Amino acid sequence: MRKPTRVVVSCPILLVSSLTLALPAGAQQRQGSLFTAQIRDQRSVKDALTWLDGHFPEQVREWIHITEIPAKSTFEAQRTAYVKAQMEAEGLEVSVDSIGNVVGIRRGTGGGPTVVFAAHMDTVHPMDTDVTVKQDGDTLRAPGIFDNSASVANMLSTIRALNRGHVRTRGDLVFIGTVQEELGLNGMRYWFAHNPGVADMLVAMDGGLGRIGYGALGIRWSRYWFRGEGAHTNYSAGKPHPVRALADAVRSIYELRVPEGRGGAVYNVGMIGGGRVFNAIPQDVYFTMDLRSVNAQLLDSLDAEITARVSAAAQGNRVRWDMERVQEIPAGGTADQLTDRLAGPLVQTAIDVYGSLGLPNGTIASGSTDGNIGVGLGIPTISVGRSRGANQHTLTEWADRPSALPATKAIVLLAVSLAGIGPAA
Ligand SMILES: [Zn+2]
Repeated sequence: MRKPTRVVVSCPILLVSSLTLALPAGAQQRQGSLFTAQIRDQRSVKDALTWLDGHFPEQVREWIHITEIPAKSTFEAQRTAYVKAQMEAEGLEVSVDSIGNVVGIRRGTGGGPTVVFAAHMDTVHPMDTDVTVKQDGDTLRAPGIFDNSASVANMLSTIRALNRGHVRTRGDLVFIGTVQEELGLNGMRYWFAHNPGVADMLVAMDGGLGRIGYGALGIRWSRYWFRGEGAHTNYSAGKPHPVRALADAVRSIYELRVPEGRGGAVYNVGMIGGGRVFNAIPQDVYFTMDLRSVNAQLLDSLDAEITARVSAAAQGNRVRWDMERVQEIPAGGTADQLTDRLAGPLVQTAIDVYGSLGLPNGTIASGSTDGNIGVGLGIPTISVGRSRGANQHTLTEWADRPSALPATKAIVLLAVSLAGIGPAA
């Protein structure tokens, strides 16, 4: 999961602090939620949750094992093979597609919606990174422990718990270990492109335990180039200078007044580069721009303004410029534009499920996960957390071990609530 936005929408439905399975008061009255007392009290569902309690030490061992398999984006093959073997052992219909996603289908009894659960397997860490997990009380430390091997382990435990509890759902459950999430959601995009019409709902398993995401943070990555003729320092006085243009552009961009808060935007110049020698004006230099907002109109207007300032800086310094678009993820819309999403059964069910487990169940009209692909396609989508933790994408990444247990129970309850309970065998 990428850096969260400041755009926050809270939906303070009654918080239930009890760790017992209690439906939040008022849940029955609110329209849309599919989490009912009948589902909660099903013998098979209770058995599945009890199985998770009894086998959490094994889940943690598997979580550590997955973390210690290096899996930088596009190098996920070893994790794919591991997840495939586990899904096969549980009797799922398993396939690996050509980009490397591993897909396990758990068939329903019929007549229910197909619910897709996606957990990305890739990390941002180079393959030679030390990914040995260090245990420090309840804290697990290693690059990738939190983002996102926790979700991969939670997904495998969910599958086993459903099987051990002999849970029968009406709809099919499709579990996907995706690849290349960190490169721009490529695996998830590929799966949707090659499986049109399959998913009725998408649950992206990514991010820390916290708010339930139901929107999509729009992201644009651009690289701006400034180019000139170059010149030896001795003959550089008064010559067009790409670095001066770059400096003017970056300063001018950081003078932009960007709306904050709900529906606002954030941006960052993450890289600059160019030039080869001390003693010459360089011929080309660049900087990169990471621009983000849930608001599509704001994203467009800021993008245009940034480009205009680059153009003005280039003109003022008599150099050429051009822009290369590196990545583009569409914005899901502001909270005001997504009120129907918030009121829909998927989000309302998630609010009840997380509340029933005493987990945070506020909502946010944003997201930077595989879920963004579902939001962009108009498919009911949420993103939900895997454990508590922090420092993802750094060498000091950590995760809170005990919190993965209720996070996994929530996935089981989401699966049975959303897909519906089928008739007993
Ligand atoms: Zn992630």
